[in-house]
Amino acid sequence: MKDLRFITKILHTKYLREDSHGSLHMPVYDNVTFEFKTAEDLELAFQGKKPSHMYSRISNPTIEHFEQRIKSVTGAVGVLALSSGMAAISNTFLTIAKAQDNIITSKHLFGNTYSLFEYTLRDWGLETRYTDLTKPDQVARLIDHKTKAIFLETITNPQLEVADIKALSEIAKAKNILLIADTTLTPPYLFSAREFGVDIETLSSTKWISGGATSVGGLIIDHGLYDWKQNEKLRRDVNKYGPFTFMTRLRREVYRNIGACMSPHNAYLQSLGLETLALRLDQACVNTLKIAGFLKESSHVSSVNYPGLRDSIYYEIAGKQFGEKSGALLTFDLTSKNQCFKFMNKLQLIRRATNLHDNKTLIIHPASTIFCEYDDKLKQEMGVRDTMLRLAVGIEDSRDLITDIQQALEG
Ligand SMILES: *Cc1c(COP(=O)(O)O)cnc(C)c1O
Repeated sequence: MKDLRFITKILHTKYLREDSHGSLHMPVYDNVTFEFKTAEDLELAFQGKKPSHMYSRISNPTIEHFEQRIKSVTGAVGVLALSSGMAAISNTFLTIAKAQDNIITSKHLFGNTYSLFEYTLRDWGLETRYTDLTKPDQVARLIDHKTKAIFLETITNPQLEVADIKALSEIAKAKNILLIADTTLTPPYLFSAREFGVDIETLSSTKWISGGATSVGGLIIDHGLYDWKQNEKLRRDVNKYGPFTFMTRLRREVYRNIGACMSPHNAYLQSLGLETLALRLDQACVNTLKIAGFLKESSHVSSVNYPGLRDSIYYEIAGKQFGEKSGALLTFDLTSKNQCFKFMNKLQLIRRATNLHDNKTLIIHPASTIFCEYDDKLKQEMGVRDTMLRLAVGIEDSRDLITDIQQALEG
């Protein structure tokens, strides 16, 4: 059958090789190495002339099936699963850039990603230039002959800012640089990155995909839109690998050498998570809109930030890019840090924990936790306020969540 929808495709993605027992779940190949019949076969495998699994740091059948499922729903040229979302981001930049290059992004970023750019990669000579990605003109002005990519989060965490991705893609295209998007908050199903001109998608599959925070993982998705001849570092491989240049260099060099591979067990869990992604995401997004509406009406709350609210400045652009669902993360402000802590401590159902897109609803005070290593001035630039709480909404019955929030606000 042709033209299957997301959830059907995920459930029925074929194995690359038939399972000898007809197992309806890809088994967990929890092994390190694979044997070959002859020395010649081993040689061919190492030369890349006969694709086969050799060693599980490089590839493994359970991980490959997880990657195939993502490939089937995105139509991507290549998909790579890694040990975490941070591994996906760092491996991507280590592949496309080198010392003295620069990239353009915003300070409105996930805290660890900012730290990766500002400390880890800067020490190795990669410069990061920060701007306001919601103002495409400013982005264009920062690009020079050493710029390799524009990097954005489709909905930034925790500012919940939404940039115009098509506008950024047009700038990147005109300058022959990459548009790389962290789609952790809007994974495939919610957002079709390819349609909006995103060249490379990185995401933390720890969040939506894992299915209830069972395991840490990350994905790199190459949508096949970029001409790799335009990238100085990868240019020399293009004649050999064509559209697979980036993925080949990753798998045969950077990903292999860095060693941040996903474990087969995590690939199994995340593959199961994918089967229910659409159902969970639908429920959590509906819940979030209801809770945002409730918070907006509450006299205890000074402001609510959710791109799905009609009065959000990102409402229109979020609608264009993500349709009716604006994700399941919202922030709201109380009058002080003290009030935030008091509220958090009164919650009976909602859990105090640092994660997003668990099945359970989680709350955190970002300024004192995820962003605690940054000084006040930087926190302000990053849009992280002392009065702000972040709620990552789960799939519980929204009425129970609202009851819990109400008693904690009023109690
Ligand atoms: C959590 C997160 C990451 C990092 O993912 P890990 O799987 O924890 O390494 C990156 N980007 C965003 C937007 C995130 O929320």
